[in-house]
Amino acid sequence: MSNDSFAKSTEILKQAVPLMIKHRVPTTPTNYALWYTYSSQQNPSLNMALDHGIEAIGHCTPTLCETLYQNHLASQTDSDVRQLKLSLTAMIQELSHSMADTLSDTNSFHNALESTFGQLEQVGKDGISLEETIGLVRELLRESQQMRQSTGLFQGQLYSAQQEIQTLRAALNKSQQQANEDALTKLYNRRAFNQDIQSYLDNQIPTSLILLDIDHFKFFNDEFGHLMGDQVLKMVAKRLTECCRDYAKAYRFGGEEFAILLPHKSLPSARQQAETMRRAIEKISVLDKRSGQRINSVAASFGLSSSQEGEHSMALIERADHFLNQAKQLGRNRVLPIS
Ligand code: GH3
Ligand code: MG
Ligand code: MG
Repeated sequence: MSNDSFAKSTEILKQAVPLMIKHRVPTTPTNYALWYTYSSQQNPSLNMALDHGIEAIGHCTPTLCETLYQNHLASQTDSDVRQLKLSLTAMIQELSHSMADTLSDTNSFHNALESTFGQLEQVGKDGISLEETIGLVRELLRESQQMRQSTGLFQGQLYSAQQEIQTLRAALNKSQQQANEDALTKLYNRRAFNQDIQSYLDNQIPTSLILLDIDHFKFFNDEFGHLMGDQVLKMVAKRLTECCRDYAKAYRFGGEEFAILLPHKSLPSARQQAETMRRAIEKISVLDKRSGQRINSVAASFGLSSSQEGEHSMALIERADHFLNQAKQLGRNRVLPIS
């Protein structure tokens, strides 16, 4: 790597890391890659989307980072993810060691400089022998050579680290995507939900929650078979995604239950979106090719809640769940509370 491109990439890293700290982004490899690319300004559509996302939500959630990573940086390479993860860990450890070495060398170099300058000052005052002056200069030279050596070593390691990060990107991204995705519906899964709701509440983002549960879902399984049940779940997930507005995100909460997180949305606004979802689900029609029968009696019950200052995610979920149960008891296919 030429000195030029090294200097450039260090410069970019120097911008990326403070941004990650500012936005409290976890220092995962994919996030490094995302924020490095953002700081490099090589991908204007990524920069626009990230700026827009942070502005709209007021905070950079793990899912926002992940979605942007997926949409803008991910490529499809199959690799041995586990092996790559291991080598990444080793690489980061190595890097941080040599970074610490370089720093301590810089410090001792700095100290050597100070004391040499101090002694040189004395030259003016007391006079100093030629031999002593040469000794001082030699000392300084030795320190600076040592410093240059360890900086060079560090640069080399940083370069190979960058190469390795390139290779790791696709593979890690794939494993991370799988970890947060529900395999059947392709929605975010419960794990992603837990991360995001915590992230909103930790950052004092007023958030509404929609919980919904498909009505009499067992009937579809019993009547048409489990695979048709799966088709219904997929269709519901698709409708929910289509209905999500303004950074609302749909998650598969469990079996035939789904959740939508709506940052910066009040309860009335969440109610509107939930009503739209309820009506969209009512319109679902799935053909059972085996029997030729059509399933067109899909419906769901909804419970809503809105975050209160300082409350735990459990409380928000429990409130929505309480209203969801009430909606079931009152005859299903409805959204509660009504006001
Ligand atoms: P209710 O209106 O009270 O919600 O009735 P319900 O039949 O929807 O509720 P119940 O909890 O009795 O049944 C839910 C069923 O969902 C039971 C379970 O077998 C089924 N289920 C959960 N996950 C899946 C899945 O991934 N695929 C399919 N096909 N069925 C699933
Ligand atoms: Mg259920
Ligand atoms: Mg149900």
